Amino acid sequence: MPARHVTARVAPLGARLVLALVEDRTRERQVEAVRRDFVANVSHELKTPVGAIRLLAEAVADAADDPEAVRRFSNRMLTESDRLSRLVQQVIELSRLQGDDPLESPTAVSVDDVVTTAVDTVATDAGARNISLVTGGETGLEVVGSAEQLTAAVSNLVANAVTYSGKDSSVLVTARSVDDTVEISVIDQGIGIPAAEMERIFERFYRVDPARHRSTGGTGIGLSIVKHIAATHGGDVRVWSVEGQGSTFTLSLPRHQLDQSAPPAGFPFA
Ligand code: ADP
Repeated sequence: MPARHVTARVAPLGARLVLALVEDRTRERQVEAVRRDFVANVSHELKTPVGAIRLLAEAVADAADDPEAVRRFSNRMLTESDRLSRLVQQVIELSRLQGDDPLESPTAVSVDDVVTTAVDTVATDAGARNISLVTGGETGLEVVGSAEQLTAAVSNLVANAVTYSGKDSSVLVTARSVDDTVEISVIDQGIGIPAAEMERIFERFYRVDPARHRSTGGTGIGLSIVKHIAATHGGDVRVWSVEGQGSTFTLSLPRHQLDQSAPPAGFPFA
C-alpha cells in the first residue's frame, strides 16, 4: 500500500526532525543558562566595589573635620573605583571575545612579537617593584590565529606573574616547540597557588583567598579570558605551582606549519 510505504519513509525523517529540534532547544536552554549565570556573577561582582564606594563616601562626609581620615577614605575610594573600572573593562573584553572566532580568518602570528609586546605592557609595573622580566627559549616560532588575542592572553599571564611576586624577584617568559605545538611558559618565583585551588583558578571570578592579597585588587577574570583564548585557538593553558615558591603557567598552541604544497616565493626549481 502506497500510504504505508510513505509513512514508513517519513517516520524516521520526522523523528530526526523532532530530535534535531529537541537538541536545538536543549542547546538554546544551555546557552541561556550560561548567560544568566554570567549576568548573575557580574552583578554580584559589581555590587561589592559599588557598595564599598558608597560606604566610603558616607564615611568621608562624616569625617569632614578630620583631614587625615578624609585622606584615608578617599584613597580607598580611589582603589575601589580602579578595581571597578578594571572589572568593567574585563567583562567587556570577555563578552567581545566570546563573539569572535580567531580561526575564522587566521593569520600566522610571530611568537617573538607576542612575547615582546606582552612583556612591554607590564614593564613599568615590574620596574616599580624591581622585578626583572627575562625572555628566553626558541625564537622564530609561529602559531595561527589572532595576534591581538594571543598578546592579551600572554600579557594576562605576565601581569599575574608580576602581581603575585615579591619585590626584587624575576619572571621568565620562554617559548619552545614540542612536536606540533608551541609552548609559551611564564615562570615566577612568587607566592604560588595551593594545590587544592589549582583547578579552580581558571573559573570566572575565582580568586584564591581574596583576603590573602586584597591589595592586588584582582577581579578573577584574567585567567578565564586566557583559557577562552587558548581554547578558541585549539590549544590549552596549564599551571604548575608550589605554594610559597612560585608558579609556571604554560600556554600550548598548535604550531603554524608551512604549506608544503606551494613553493615559497623565489623558489628556483619550480
Ligand atoms: P585576578 O584578577 O584575581 O588576578 P585571575 O583570573 O587572573 O584573576 O587569577 C585568578 C586567581 O589565581 C588570582 O586571584 C590568584 O589568586 C591566582 N593566581 C593567578 N596567577 C597567579 C600567579 N602567577 N601566582 C599566584 N597566584 C596566581
